[in-house]
Amino acid sequence: MFTLPPLPYAKNALEPHITATTLSFHHEKHHQTYVTNLNNLVADTAFALLTLEEIIEKTADSAAHVGIFNNAAQVWNHTFYWNCMKSNGGGMPTGALLSKIDADFGSYNTFREQFKQAAITQFGSGWAWLVLTAEGKLAITKTSNADCPFAHGQTALLTIDVWEHAYYLDFQNRRADYVDTFLDHLVNWDFATSQLTE
Ligand code: MN
Repeated sequence: MFTLPPLPYAKNALEPHITATTLSFHHEKHHQTYVTNLNNLVADTAFALLTLEEIIEKTADSAAHVGIFNNAAQVWNHTFYWNCMKSNGGGMPTGALLSKIDADFGSYNTFREQFKQAAITQFGSGWAWLVLTAEGKLAITKTSNADCPFAHGQTALLTIDVWEHAYYLDFQNRRADYVDTFLDHLVNWDFATSQLTE
């Protein structure tokens, strides 16, 4: 049985940017629902013996297992997203990750523009990502619905949830303001850097 991982900070830790109300609904309702659905879908199947990551990899390109993939990937994506934020985060990274961003994008500002553009142009529900490609280069990607980079051989370093449930209570339709707030006040660059070195 999969369980809902606790948030890595208090529910009000991201205020005033993301409110405790948003985090309550997003974590205790949305994230929990993906966990519950996944447990129901894999009950009494061979998938019940696998790790979350194994389930995602095995169902990523399987038309017969779309429901399992969607719920498993959303469980993983949300856990990853919580870790991508912290109180008093955002702004420029430092150290190894900043050097790599400079090398692969030219500058932090270019990275920021491309990440924001991906997040605001993802049509409908989905995610924007900073990833490490199989070739070892940083890249910006966006995915629809539940899809995630590691199902496609990429290592995720950073993500922003751009499903409306992630921002509507705090920002209504202003997705661009939510993305700016994420980048300038919330990004946990220590977590992103830890993914780079794993
Ligand atoms: Mn979400």
